[in-house]
Amino acid sequence: MNTNRKILFIVALMLIGLAVATITNVALNFREYGYNNAIEKSKMTAEIVRDGLTAHMVNGIMDKRQFFLSNIANIKDVQALWIVRADKVVNQHGEGLDNERPRDAIDRKVLKEGVIIREIQEDTRNAVLRVTIPYIATAYGSPNCLSCHNAKEGDVLGAISMEFNINEIRQTGAITIGKIFAINLVFLIIALWVTNHYFKPYMQLFENLQQGIKRARTGDFSFRFKTTLKDAGSEVAEQMNTLFEKMEETFGGIKHNLNTFVSRSNISCTDPLNSAGTIIKELSDVYKFKKTIELDSSKDAIYARFIYVLQEKFHFSHFALYEVDKTVKERKLIYITDHKSFCLPAADTNPTECRAYRTNSDVYSTDFPNLCNHCDNTKEYTCIPFNINDDLSLILSYSANGIEEIENMNLALPSIKNYFEAAKAVIESRTLMDKLRDSSLRDGATRLYNRRFLEEFIDRSAAQALRSNVSYAVLMIDIDFFKMVNDTYGHDAGDLVIKSLAEILQHSIRKSDLPIRYGGEEFLVLLHNTTQEGALAIAEKIRTVFNEKKFQFGSDSLQKTLSIGISHFPLHADSLWKVIKFADIALYEGKHTGRNRVIEFEERMFNGGDQF
Ligand code: GH3
Ligand code: MG
Ligand code: MG
Repeated sequence: MNTNRKILFIVALMLIGLAVATITNVALNFREYGYNNAIEKSKMTAEIVRDGLTAHMVNGIMDKRQFFLSNIANIKDVQALWIVRADKVVNQHGEGLDNERPRDAIDRKVLKEGVIIREIQEDTRNAVLRVTIPYIATAYGSPNCLSCHNAKEGDVLGAISMEFNINEIRQTGAITIGKIFAINLVFLIIALWVTNHYFKPYMQLFENLQQGIKRARTGDFSFRFKTTLKDAGSEVAEQMNTLFEKMEETFGGIKHNLNTFVSRSNISCTDPLNSAGTIIKELSDVYKFKKTIELDSSKDAIYARFIYVLQEKFHFSHFALYEVDKTVKERKLIYITDHKSFCLPAADTNPTECRAYRTNSDVYSTDFPNLCNHCDNTKEYTCIPFNINDDLSLILSYSANGIEEIENMNLALPSIKNYFEAAKAVIESRTLMDKLRDSSLRDGATRLYNRRFLEEFIDRSAAQALRSNVSYAVLMIDIDFFKMVNDTYGHDAGDLVIKSLAEILQHSIRKSDLPIRYGGEEFLVLLHNTTQEGALAIAEKIRTVFNEKKFQFGSDSLQKTLSIGISHFPLHADSLWKVIKFADIALYEGKHTGRNRVIEFEERMFNGGDQF
């Protein structure tokens, strides 16, 4: 049922209800009125009869009473009228006329009990009110009943029965009800017509609005609203049309742009508005992610944030992130959730063993059994390669216990790729910066750290080292009579000797130690947590190995020596710069005392303490 019909139905129902209530009320009132009217009449008639009979009695013309009673019986609406004598009167005055004997049980009951009985006898054609009223003896009336009758106060002397025809009232009532019904019917028709006439356009507009809004919910704003209304209704339709036109225009643009995005997203397009909301939310999340990582200073911080997104946004519970350095073909594990590797060790040492990296395509274990030879094939897994640039790739691997779980995780892939895409340029720029920074902190010829690195290192690490009881031994190394090499064999020969010493240094120390090119042919080595004996042993080893190295310049074979000064942090000073200075002092002690020596710093060598 449409809204207009619903309203008409409700109006009709209300009016019919009102009509029924009115008619019922009128009918009841009419019945009541007719009944009360007849009762009043019966009372009056009873009094007239009593007074009339009393007058007949007083005047001694009781034998003429029939004439009087017949006339009374001719009163309008009185269908029958008779009187009956009580036993007491019969005993005193005889039985009276034939028609004065009790006619029925009502007469007898009234004579016996002295109560008024009223009764309506009605069928479809006739309605009669029967009233029987007793005459009670009293000494207080005028005349005094007891003066003529052998009776006591309150005794029943007789009764009068009357039958009133109340048909006419009933008929009048029925006619009135009919008229009311007719009036109501006319009113109902008028009301329905008026309602229909005035409400229909509103209802049509309302239904029109419903249809338009329904279509708009699916992203279709092409609907245009129509109305025959002139006032506010037409204004509403016009405003809605303007709104829909704007929405169609704007949403058309959004839809066009969405189509390019939706193809790379897992968002369904059944409800474009909804999809737009979800995509915009995702874009906003990715944008926030991008803005945040742009301010991150290192690649590792970006990786950490990406790992956070995988855990918190996508709720991945088991995954690993790898970085592949394509130039050296090395795959490095950046993060793994629970130390349980996805891959056999071969894939770590040789990235071409990783199917995702080798094929540069997504690897889904659900596609084929044992898809990657180097993955744990007891679980379901997905591995995604992501190229940052020609030198760097990332690989994301995640696993699940069942097909359903991994397929659910795979649904997030388009979004995850959006995050990768957002991070790509930033990772690339951070990699470049790391490289630039690395090159600015390293010496180009030997690839060892340079003095600038030492300065930064000391700035960052010295205080921390002091707090956490870390010790360093500083070796200051200088090639003896190096100038001679340059002067005799040329600068290139000198460079060769310098590079050779750099290699010897790198091979003689541990990973935690730092070799630094301190100056021209001067090197500094920071030995991490080493005893005095240990530092001495390493210095001796360096000195000996270098000394044994033979350089061939033309037909000449050349061997060079080193002088090395050693001092210890925090043993000799609580500042690394001081300790370096002391190592330098020890070195020059070595130079002055014959060269090709390793000298440990001693307090006596230092006499210019106030310069620190
Ligand atoms: P000493 O035993 O006192 O150290 O004598 P030395 O000749 O080594 O004297 P010094 O340490 O003062 O000389 C350093 C020389 O090293 C001076 C400089 O020309 C040379 N030199 C510094 N850097 C380089 C470099 O990168 N390549 C070459 N070939 N020579 C360098
Ligand atoms: Mg020298
Ligand atoms: Mg020197």
